[in-house]
Amino acid sequence: MIKQNVSLKKYNSFNIDVKAKEFVEINSKEELIHIVNVIKNKKALFLGGGSNILFTKDFDGIVIHLNMKGIKYENSNSENTIVKANAGENWNKFVEFCLENNLGGIENLSLIPGNVGSAPVQNIGAYGVELKDVFLSCEVFNKDDLSTKEYNIKDCKFGYRSSIFKENKSLIILSVTLKLKNKNHNINSSYGGIKEELIKLNIKTPNIKDISNVVCNIRKRKLPDPEEIGNAGSFFKNPVVKKEKIDWINEKFNNIPFYKIDEENYKIPAAWLIEQAGLKGKEFNGFGIHKSQPLVLINYGDAKGHDIYKLSLTIKEIIFKIFKIELETEVNII
Ligand SMILES: Cc1cc2nc3c(=O)[nH]c(=O)nc-3n(C[C@H](O)[C@H](O)[C@H](O)COP(=O)(O)OP(=O)(O)OC[C@H]3O[C@@H](n4cnc5c(N)ncnc54)[C@H](O)[C@@H]3O)c2cc1C
Repeated sequence: MIKQNVSLKKYNSFNIDVKAKEFVEINSKEELIHIVNVIKNKKALFLGGGSNILFTKDFDGIVIHLNMKGIKYENSNSENTIVKANAGENWNKFVEFCLENNLGGIENLSLIPGNVGSAPVQNIGAYGVELKDVFLSCEVFNKDDLSTKEYNIKDCKFGYRSSIFKENKSLIILSVTLKLKNKNHNINSSYGGIKEELIKLNIKTPNIKDISNVVCNIRKRKLPDPEEIGNAGSFFKNPVVKKEKIDWINEKFNNIPFYKIDEENYKIPAAWLIEQAGLKGKEFNGFGIHKSQPLVLINYGDAKGHDIYKLSLTIKEIIFKIFKIELETEVNII
Protein backbone atom coordinates (compact mmCIF):
# COMPACT_ATOMS: atom_id res chain seq x y z
CA MET A 1 0.00 0.00 0.00
CA ILE A 2 1.39 3.38 -1.00
CA LYS A 3 1.40 5.86 1.91
CA GLN A 4 1.58 9.65 1.56
CA ASN A 5 3.85 12.14 3.34
CA VAL A 6 5.87 9.66 5.39
CA SER A 7 8.68 10.69 7.76
CA LEU A 8 11.96 8.99 6.83
CA LYS A 9 13.57 9.58 10.24
CA LYS A 10 13.46 5.91 11.27
CA TYR A 11 14.56 4.79 7.79
CA ASN A 12 18.00 6.48 7.75
CA SER A 13 20.88 5.99 10.19
CA PHE A 14 21.66 9.73 10.19
CA ASN A 15 18.17 10.17 11.78
CA ILE A 16 17.39 13.05 9.44
CA ASP A 17 13.75 14.05 9.70
CA VAL A 18 12.63 14.55 6.11
CA LYS A 19 9.45 13.37 4.42
CA ALA A 20 8.84 11.23 1.37
CA LYS A 21 5.93 12.37 -0.79
CA GLU A 22 5.06 8.68 -1.15
CA PHE A 23 6.37 5.53 0.53
CA VAL A 24 5.82 1.84 -0.04
CA GLU A 25 7.22 -1.30 1.54
CA ILE A 26 8.00 -4.21 -0.78
CA ASN A 27 8.05 -7.81 0.49
CA SER A 28 8.47 -9.82 -2.71
CA LYS A 29 9.81 -9.64 -6.25
CA GLU A 30 6.22 -9.76 -7.57
CA GLU A 31 5.26 -6.75 -5.43
CA LEU A 32 8.29 -4.87 -6.75
CA ILE A 33 7.42 -5.57 -10.39
CA HIS A 34 3.81 -4.54 -9.72
CA ILE A 35 4.78 -1.25 -8.07
CA VAL A 36 7.30 -0.35 -10.78
CA ASN A 37 4.50 -0.87 -13.33
CA VAL A 38 2.14 1.33 -11.30
CA ILE A 39 4.57 4.22 -10.73
CA LYS A 40 5.84 4.23 -14.33
CA ASN A 41 8.31 7.14 -14.66
CA LYS A 42 7.77 8.67 -11.22
CA LYS A 43 10.94 9.73 -9.38
CA ALA A 44 11.84 6.75 -7.16
CA LEU A 45 14.40 5.91 -4.50
CA PHE A 46 15.09 2.27 -3.63
CA LEU A 47 15.98 2.06 0.04
CA GLY A 48 17.53 -0.69 2.15
CA GLY A 49 18.59 -0.01 5.74
CA GLY A 50 19.32 3.68 5.04
CA SER A 51 22.82 3.45 6.54
CA ASN A 52 24.67 4.91 3.56
CA ILE A 53 22.39 7.83 2.73
CA LEU A 54 22.17 11.51 3.63
CA PHE A 55 18.80 13.14 2.95
CA THR A 56 19.34 16.86 2.35
CA LYS A 57 15.67 17.66 1.72
CA ASP A 58 12.19 16.14 1.51
CA PHE A 59 12.00 13.47 -1.18
CA ASP A 60 9.64 14.61 -3.90
CA GLY A 61 8.87 11.13 -5.25
CA ILE A 62 8.27 7.59 -4.03
CA VAL A 63 10.58 5.79 -1.60
CA ILE A 64 10.47 2.04 -2.21
CA HIS A 65 11.64 0.23 0.91
CA LEU A 66 13.03 -3.17 -0.09
CA ASN A 67 12.11 -5.69 2.60
CA MET A 68 12.20 -9.04 0.81
CA LYS A 69 13.31 -11.72 3.33
CA GLY A 70 14.69 -15.21 2.93
CA ILE A 71 17.98 -17.13 3.04
CA LYS A 72 18.50 -20.46 1.31
CA TYR A 73 21.22 -22.98 0.52
CA GLU A 74 21.73 -23.31 -3.20
CA ASN A 75 24.45 -25.90 -3.45
CA SER A 76 27.39 -27.38 -1.59
CA ASN A 77 30.40 -29.64 -1.99
CA SER A 78 33.16 -30.68 0.40
CA GLU A 79 34.82 -27.24 0.18
CA ASN A 80 32.18 -24.64 -0.49
CA THR A 81 28.58 -23.81 0.20
CA ILE A 82 26.57 -21.49 -2.00
CA VAL A 83 24.07 -19.38 -0.09
CA LYS A 84 21.49 -16.99 -1.49
CA ALA A 85 19.89 -14.20 0.56
CA ASN A 86 17.12 -11.86 -0.47
CA ALA A 87 17.77 -8.12 -0.60
CA GLY A 88 15.78 -7.15 2.51
CA GLU A 89 17.68 -9.43 4.91
CA ASN A 90 19.74 -7.52 7.45
CA TRP A 91 23.43 -7.94 6.52
CA ASN A 92 24.69 -8.67 10.02
CA LYS A 93 21.90 -11.19 10.69
CA PHE A 94 23.02 -12.91 7.48
CA VAL A 95 26.63 -12.92 8.73
CA GLU A 96 25.41 -14.46 12.02
CA PHE A 97 23.46 -17.12 10.08
CA CYS A 98 26.66 -18.03 8.19
CA LEU A 99 28.71 -18.15 11.40
CA GLU A 100 26.14 -20.42 13.08
CA ASN A 101 26.41 -22.75 10.09
CA ASN A 102 30.21 -22.66 10.09
CA LEU A 103 30.45 -20.93 6.71
CA GLY A 104 33.56 -18.80 6.38
CA GLY A 105 34.40 -15.77 4.30
CA ILE A 106 32.33 -12.87 5.63
CA GLU A 107 33.34 -12.91 9.33
CA ASN A 108 35.50 -9.79 8.78
CA LEU A 109 32.38 -8.00 7.50
CA SER A 110 30.54 -8.48 10.81
CA LEU A 111 28.43 -5.63 12.19
CA ILE A 112 28.30 -3.56 8.98
CA PRO A 113 24.85 -1.95 9.10
CA GLY A 114 22.35 -2.20 6.27
CA ASN A 115 20.82 -4.89 4.10
CA VAL A 116 22.08 -7.70 1.92
CA GLY A 117 20.72 -6.06 -1.26
CA SER A 118 22.84 -2.95 -0.75
CA ALA A 119 26.07 -4.85 -0.06
CA PRO A 120 27.08 -5.07 -3.75
CA VAL A 121 26.20 -1.39 -4.37
CA GLN A 122 29.42 -0.15 -2.82
CA ASN A 123 31.14 -3.55 -2.61
CA ILE A 124 31.15 -3.33 1.19
CA GLY A 125 34.49 -3.90 2.80
CA ALA A 126 36.19 -3.96 6.18
CA TYR A 127 39.23 -5.45 7.88
CA GLY A 128 40.91 -6.65 4.68
CA VAL A 129 37.86 -8.29 3.08
CA GLU A 130 35.43 -7.04 0.44
CA LEU A 131 32.12 -8.50 -0.68
CA LYS A 132 33.64 -9.30 -4.08
CA ASP A 133 35.98 -11.84 -2.39
CA VAL A 134 33.03 -14.18 -1.75
CA PHE A 135 30.57 -12.91 -4.37
CA LEU A 136 29.13 -15.34 -6.91
CA SER A 137 26.18 -13.48 -8.45
CA CYS A 138 23.12 -11.35 -7.82
CA GLU A 139 19.67 -11.24 -9.32
CA VAL A 140 18.97 -7.82 -10.79
CA PHE A 141 15.71 -6.23 -11.86
CA ASN A 142 15.98 -3.42 -14.40
CA LYS A 143 13.18 -0.95 -13.74
CA ASP A 144 13.48 0.60 -17.22
CA ASP A 145 12.86 -2.50 -19.33
CA LEU A 146 11.36 -4.68 -16.53
CA SER A 147 13.86 -7.47 -17.24
CA THR A 148 15.47 -9.70 -14.62
CA LYS A 149 19.03 -10.95 -15.08
CA GLU A 150 21.70 -12.74 -13.05
CA TYR A 151 24.85 -10.55 -12.77
CA ASN A 152 28.18 -12.28 -12.25
CA ILE A 153 31.26 -10.70 -10.67
CA LYS A 154 32.43 -9.25 -14.01
CA ASP A 155 29.04 -7.68 -14.77
CA CYS A 156 29.07 -5.93 -11.38
CA LYS A 157 32.32 -4.01 -12.13
CA PHE A 158 33.35 -4.00 -8.48
CA GLY A 159 35.98 -1.53 -7.35
CA TYR A 160 36.92 0.16 -4.10
CA ARG A 161 33.48 1.10 -2.66
CA SER A 162 32.03 1.06 -6.14
CA SER A 163 30.12 -1.06 -8.63
CA ILE A 164 27.84 -0.71 -11.63
CA PHE A 165 24.92 -0.30 -9.18
CA LYS A 166 26.38 2.89 -7.77
CA GLU A 167 26.26 4.42 -11.26
CA ASN A 168 23.11 2.90 -12.76
CA LYS A 169 20.18 3.55 -10.45
CA SER A 170 17.76 1.61 -12.71
CA LEU A 171 19.29 -1.67 -11.51
CA ILE A 172 17.64 -3.12 -8.41
CA ILE A 173 19.29 -6.03 -6.62
CA LEU A 174 16.73 -8.65 -5.62
CA SER A 175 19.04 -11.23 -4.04
CA VAL A 176 22.73 -11.93 -3.56
CA THR A 177 24.49 -15.31 -3.88
CA LEU A 178 27.80 -15.93 -2.12
CA LYS A 179 30.31 -18.77 -2.28
CA LEU A 180 31.45 -19.50 1.28
CA LYS A 181 34.02 -21.90 2.72
CA ASN A 182 33.04 -24.96 4.76
CA LYS A 183 36.43 -25.65 6.32
CA ASN A 184 40.16 -25.00 6.01
CA HIS A 185 39.20 -21.42 5.58
CA ASN A 186 42.07 -19.02 5.14
CA ILE A 187 41.32 -16.66 8.00
CA ASN A 188 42.33 -13.03 7.44
CA SER A 189 43.61 -11.56 10.70
CA SER A 190 46.23 -9.24 9.27
CA TYR A 191 44.26 -6.02 9.26
CA GLY A 192 43.10 -3.23 11.55
CA GLY A 193 44.22 -4.52 14.93
CA ILE A 194 42.67 -8.01 14.71
CA LYS A 195 45.99 -9.71 15.51
CA GLU A 196 46.63 -7.52 18.56
CA GLU A 197 43.10 -8.16 19.87
CA LEU A 198 43.54 -11.94 19.43
CA ILE A 199 46.80 -11.81 21.42
CA LYS A 200 45.04 -9.84 24.17
CA LEU A 201 42.38 -12.57 24.34
CA ASN A 202 45.04 -15.29 24.19
CA ILE A 203 43.48 -16.87 21.10
CA LYS A 204 46.21 -18.66 19.14
CA THR A 205 44.24 -20.49 16.45
CA PRO A 206 41.16 -18.38 15.84
CA ASN A 207 38.07 -19.74 14.14
CA ILE A 208 35.57 -17.65 12.17
CA LYS A 209 33.50 -16.89 15.28
CA ASP A 210 36.61 -15.59 17.10
CA ILE A 211 37.38 -13.29 14.16
CA SER A 212 33.80 -12.05 14.10
CA ASN A 213 33.84 -11.37 17.88
CA VAL A 214 37.13 -9.50 17.61
CA VAL A 215 35.92 -7.42 14.65
CA CYS A 216 32.70 -6.59 16.56
CA ASN A 217 34.72 -5.55 19.64
CA ILE A 218 36.99 -3.27 17.61
CA ARG A 219 34.06 -1.74 15.68
CA LYS A 220 32.08 -1.09 18.89
CA ARG A 221 35.10 0.69 20.38
CA LYS A 222 35.89 2.76 17.29
CA LEU A 223 32.60 3.60 15.62
CA PRO A 224 29.55 5.42 16.95
CA ASP A 225 26.44 3.20 17.12
CA PRO A 226 23.77 4.69 14.79
CA GLU A 227 21.13 3.49 17.29
CA GLU A 228 22.54 6.04 19.73
CA ILE A 229 23.97 8.76 17.52
CA GLY A 230 23.06 9.57 13.93
CA ASN A 231 25.77 8.77 11.37
CA ALA A 232 26.40 6.83 8.15
CA GLY A 233 29.86 5.42 8.87
CA SER A 234 32.73 6.70 6.74
CA PHE A 235 31.54 9.81 4.93
CA PHE A 236 34.51 9.91 2.53
CA LYS A 237 36.52 7.30 0.67
CA ASN A 238 40.22 6.90 1.38
CA PRO A 239 42.00 8.70 -1.48
CA VAL A 240 44.32 6.81 -3.81
CA VAL A 241 47.40 8.84 -4.79
CA LYS A 242 50.77 8.49 -6.52
CA LYS A 243 54.08 8.09 -4.66
CA GLU A 244 55.11 11.71 -5.47
CA LYS A 245 52.09 12.95 -3.53
CA ILE A 246 53.09 10.87 -0.49
CA ASP A 247 56.62 12.34 -0.66
CA TRP A 248 55.23 15.87 -1.05
CA ILE A 249 52.95 15.51 1.99
CA ASN A 250 55.77 13.90 4.00
CA GLU A 251 57.88 17.05 3.56
CA LYS A 252 55.26 19.03 5.49
CA PHE A 253 53.78 16.38 7.82
CA ASN A 254 55.91 13.56 9.12
CA ASN A 255 54.88 9.92 9.13
CA ILE A 256 51.96 9.95 6.74
CA PRO A 257 50.33 6.51 6.99
CA PHE A 258 49.72 4.81 3.64
CA TYR A 259 48.95 1.44 2.14
CA LYS A 260 50.64 0.36 -1.08
CA ILE A 261 48.12 -0.87 -3.66
CA ASP A 262 50.63 -1.44 -6.48
CA GLU A 263 53.88 0.09 -7.77
CA GLU A 264 52.11 3.34 -8.71
CA ASN A 265 49.16 3.73 -6.34
CA TYR A 266 48.94 4.29 -2.60
CA LYS A 267 45.91 4.63 -0.35
CA ILE A 268 45.95 7.28 2.40
CA PRO A 269 43.48 7.23 5.31
CA ALA A 270 41.12 10.19 4.79
CA ALA A 271 40.71 10.21 8.59
CA TRP A 272 44.40 11.11 8.96
CA LEU A 273 44.07 14.01 6.50
CA ILE A 274 41.03 15.37 8.37
CA GLU A 275 42.82 15.02 11.71
CA GLN A 276 45.96 16.78 10.41
CA ALA A 277 43.71 19.62 9.19
CA GLY A 278 42.65 20.10 12.82
CA LEU A 279 39.03 19.16 12.18
CA LYS A 280 38.71 16.05 14.38
CA GLY A 281 35.94 16.43 16.98
CA LYS A 282 34.72 19.81 15.68
CA GLU A 283 31.15 20.39 16.80
CA PHE A 284 28.66 22.84 15.34
CA ASN A 285 25.00 23.45 15.99
CA GLY A 286 23.81 19.86 16.55
CA PHE A 287 26.19 18.23 14.09
CA GLY A 288 29.91 17.72 13.63
CA ILE A 289 32.91 15.48 13.11
CA HIS A 290 33.32 12.49 15.41
CA LYS A 291 35.85 12.97 18.21
CA SER A 292 37.75 9.72 17.70
CA GLN A 293 36.90 8.73 14.10
CA PRO A 294 37.06 11.92 11.99
CA LEU A 295 35.85 10.12 8.88
CA VAL A 296 32.41 9.94 10.48
CA LEU A 297 30.08 12.94 10.41
CA ILE A 298 27.54 13.06 13.20
CA ASN A 299 23.98 14.25 13.79
CA TYR A 300 23.90 14.97 17.53
CA GLY A 301 20.14 15.48 17.54
CA ASP A 302 17.97 17.41 15.18
CA ALA A 303 20.48 18.51 12.56
CA LYS A 304 19.35 19.19 9.03
CA GLY A 305 20.82 16.96 6.31
CA HIS A 306 21.68 20.05 4.33
CA ASP A 307 23.92 21.35 7.15
CA ILE A 308 25.80 18.03 7.30
CA TYR A 309 26.19 18.14 3.53
CA LYS A 310 27.55 21.71 3.72
CA LEU A 311 30.01 20.58 6.41
CA SER A 312 31.20 17.81 4.08
CA LEU A 313 31.86 20.38 1.34
CA THR A 314 33.82 22.56 3.76
CA ILE A 315 35.94 19.56 4.80
CA LYS A 316 36.65 18.80 1.14
CA GLU A 317 37.67 22.41 0.50
CA ILE A 318 40.03 22.49 3.50
CA ILE A 319 41.63 19.15 2.59
CA PHE A 320 42.15 20.33 -0.97
CA LYS A 321 43.72 23.58 0.20
CA ILE A 322 46.20 21.83 2.47
CA PHE A 323 46.97 18.58 0.63
CA LYS A 324 45.78 19.22 -2.97
CA ILE A 325 43.72 16.04 -2.68
CA GLU A 326 40.06 15.83 -3.71
CA LEU A 327 38.14 13.73 -1.18
CA GLU A 328 35.40 11.62 -2.73
CA THR A 329 32.10 11.19 -0.90
CA GLU A 330 31.19 7.61 0.00
CA VAL A 331 27.69 8.33 1.33
CA ASN A 332 24.81 8.71 -1.18
CA ILE A 333 23.56 12.31 -1.08
CA ILE A 334 19.83 12.60 -1.82
C1 LIG B 1 28.27 2.85 11.77
C2 LIG B 1 28.43 2.47 10.31
C3 LIG B 1 29.51 1.71 9.93
C4 LIG B 1 29.69 1.36 8.59
N1 LIG B 1 30.75 0.59 8.25
C5 LIG B 1 30.95 0.22 6.97
C6 LIG B 1 32.05 -0.60 6.61
O1 LIG B 1 32.85 -1.02 7.45
N2 LIG B 1 32.21 -0.92 5.31
C7 LIG B 1 31.32 -0.51 4.34
O2 LIG B 1 31.53 -0.85 3.17
N3 LIG B 1 30.26 0.26 4.66
C8 LIG B 1 30.04 0.63 5.94
N4 LIG B 1 28.97 1.41 6.27
C9 LIG B 1 28.08 1.89 5.22
C10 LIG B 1 26.80 1.00 5.04
O3 LIG B 1 26.58 0.22 6.15
C11 LIG B 1 26.91 0.11 3.80
O4 LIG B 1 27.15 0.88 2.66
C12 LIG B 1 25.65 -0.72 3.59
O5 LIG B 1 25.85 -1.68 2.58
C13 LIG B 1 24.43 0.13 3.24
O6 LIG B 1 23.31 -0.69 3.28
P1 LIG B 1 21.85 -0.09 3.41
O7 LIG B 1 20.89 -1.21 3.21
O8 LIG B 1 21.70 0.67 4.64
O9 LIG B 1 21.84 0.86 2.13
P2 LIG B 1 20.98 2.18 1.91
O10 LIG B 1 21.58 3.29 2.70
O11 LIG B 1 19.55 1.90 2.10
O12 LIG B 1 21.24 2.44 0.35
C14 LIG B 1 22.53 2.77 -0.10
C15 LIG B 1 22.47 2.94 -1.64
O13 LIG B 1 22.17 1.72 -2.25
C16 LIG B 1 20.95 1.79 -3.00
N5 LIG B 1 20.26 0.52 -2.78
C17 LIG B 1 19.77 0.04 -1.60
N6 LIG B 1 19.26 -1.19 -1.79
C18 LIG B 1 19.43 -1.49 -3.10
C19 LIG B 1 19.12 -2.62 -3.91
N7 LIG B 1 18.51 -3.71 -3.40
N8 LIG B 1 19.42 -2.58 -5.23
C20 LIG B 1 20.02 -1.49 -5.78
N9 LIG B 1 20.35 -0.39 -5.06
C21 LIG B 1 20.05 -0.40 -3.73
C22 LIG B 1 20.21 2.99 -2.45
O14 LIG B 1 19.33 3.55 -3.41
C23 LIG B 1 21.37 3.91 -2.10
O15 LIG B 1 21.82 4.58 -3.24
C24 LIG B 1 28.76 1.78 7.61
C25 LIG B 1 27.65 2.55 8.01
C26 LIG B 1 27.48 2.88 9.34
C27 LIG B 1 26.27 3.66 9.77
